[in-house]
Amino acid sequence: MNDLGDLLRHEIQDLFSAEEQMIEAMPAMIEKAKDTELSKALKEHLRISENQKKRLDEVLKLLGEGEENTEGEEKRGLFSRLFKGSGTKCKAMEGLIEEGKKVMGEDMNEKVMDAAIIASAQKIEHYEISGYGTARAYARQLNLKEVERLLEQTLNEEYEADKRLSKLALGDVNIDAERTGSAKSKGSGKSAGKQSNGSKAGSKSSSKTSSKSSGSSKTSSSSRSSSNGKGGSGSKSGGKSTSKSSGSKGSKSSAGKSSKSGRRR
Ligand code: ZN
Ligand code: FE
Ligand code: FE
Ligand code: FE
Repeated sequence: MNDLGDLLRHEIQDLFSAEEQMIEAMPAMIEKAKDTELSKALKEHLRISENQKKRLDEVLKLLGEGEENTEGEEKRGLFSRLFKGSGTKCKAMEGLIEEGKKVMGEDMNEKVMDAAIIASAQKIEHYEISGYGTARAYARQLNLKEVERLLEQTLNEEYEADKRLSKLALGDVNIDAERTGSAKSKGSGKSAGKQSNGSKAGSKSSSKTSSKSSGSSKTSSSSRSSSNGKGGSGSKSGGKSTSKSSGSKGSKSSAGKSSKSGRRR
């Protein structure tokens, strides 16, 4: 790899593999999801992801053309095919999916399962947000307008998916998951559950209950903090403003910002 263009190509390959793996893994998640809104959101995102993969195909073609400008149409097609089949596998997505599968394989109350599914899905979304944000910054730097536009379209869809999952988690999935846990120990879970919309009250109540009920309240509190989703929206502003410097710098600083703002809220 010699320049930013090579790095962009690498990132696109990685994202292509990530989308591919995600599309394959999502049906199992959808099957496990009990909350109807959650399963609807996942189904819709699966459909969107298939389109995102096609978009990456377009990006690959555009990058292939840039590379093989002097070659004929056929060779360009071949190039983009070789490019795709070059064996790049996104190890990060592989790991995220594996982690998700592992947790979904556990014996779990279905409400808690929904919270765990959201947590897994949001980790995936945040990874994609990071990748697409970086790739877009590279495309912008390289003045590849169409590539930038395509990547931004997907980036926005990933933000939307993340936001929607946060809403579901904070709206009632985490609360339901908390209730099922505390119902076993005491009735106090009900009022604690109601408070948990605000993450201040939420983290208080979850730390209270975590000593009584074991795993479930832990799960709900961990997915709550991840599903605050500020990592995602944080990288949004980071990604946007960093176009001057670079994507990775942006995501670093925004990650710092985001976790702070997450705590504050
Ligand atoms: Zn990846
Ligand atoms: Fe995606
Ligand atoms: Fe990767
Ligand atoms: Fe996604």
